[in-house]
Amino acid sequence: MVIALLFYYRDPSGILVFHFSCFNFHYLVRKILLIVFRHNFHTHTSYCDGSSSPEAYVKAALDAGLLSMGFSGHAPVPMENGFAIRDDKALKEYFSDIVSLREAYRKDIAIYLGLEVDYIPGITRPFGSFRENWPLDYIIGSVHLVRNPENKLWFIDGPDRSLWIDGLVIDYKGDVKKAVGDYYHQLCEMVEQQRPDIVGHLDKVKMHNHGAYFSEDEPWYKDLVMACLHSVLKTGCIVEVNTRGIYKKRSESLFPAPWILKEMKQMGIAVTISSDAHKPEEIAMLLDVGSSALQAAGYSEAYVFTSNGWQAEAL
Ligand SMILES: [Zn+2]
Ligand SMILES: [Zn+2]
Repeated sequence: MVIALLFYYRDPSGILVFHFSCFNFHYLVRKILLIVFRHNFHTHTSYCDGSSSPEAYVKAALDAGLLSMGFSGHAPVPMENGFAIRDDKALKEYFSDIVSLREAYRKDIAIYLGLEVDYIPGITRPFGSFRENWPLDYIIGSVHLVRNPENKLWFIDGPDRSLWIDGLVIDYKGDVKKAVGDYYHQLCEMVEQQRPDIVGHLDKVKMHNHGAYFSEDEPWYKDLVMACLHSVLKTGCIVEVNTRGIYKKRSESLFPAPWILKEMKQMGIAVTISSDAHKPEEIAMLLDVGSSALQAAGYSEAYVFTSNGWQAEAL
């Protein structure tokens, strides 16, 4: 509902000045009550590449006024790496730690148990094996490492841009369309074959580009994104709006970019908002920016995990 308010005042010369303003009613009420999206389901602790114990994040979530939160440690991957939960023994400790916290803070905040699972074809475990063996509330599916036809892995994440450039220039011999195409094909394959609850940072491949190697306005790039969105629509996955690229100053836009959010809204794709926190103080970072971007794209609700599964909540 849109409401119009008429203001008037006298200017210094005594003339009466009238001023009309229009507001979206719900937007106005939420601004007055300082209501923002108060949930985050994408959180990394010291069990993987986060800085602190899970309890430090729960305390930070309470300080930030969150109503619910979820942990999403990087699931173990069968290769030497510095980001994932080490092995199944550590995974067991992670789960038991979160379940204890859920009980201890039951009266203060709803805590959910998730994993961010990597998809690398032929290398990572099927997502179903995590669902079958562990008491998971949800899975975020993400592509951080792109497997190319020569079986080399292109690391598209992390703070070191030179790794992204080396993969592109050396392994892909500068064939940007092929490299970016491999990323999106791997992402589509993950969505269709593994069916995560949430698709993590959908267009993260752009993060280290900074306009240097390709433009997101080029038709070939848009075609790759749109093909992926069709896979998402077909499978009913939720896409997260991930704010980390902006607050870490690594990306000029959210993951996914505003133009993709508009396409998603047109298609009827469900969304949630995540900070992808790696430190307690990042637990609610820029959730309001994610919410505003969704509203600008035409969304009026985002999905939140509850004891009854994923439910829509008004933005
Ligand atoms: Zn990720
Ligand atoms: Zn993450």
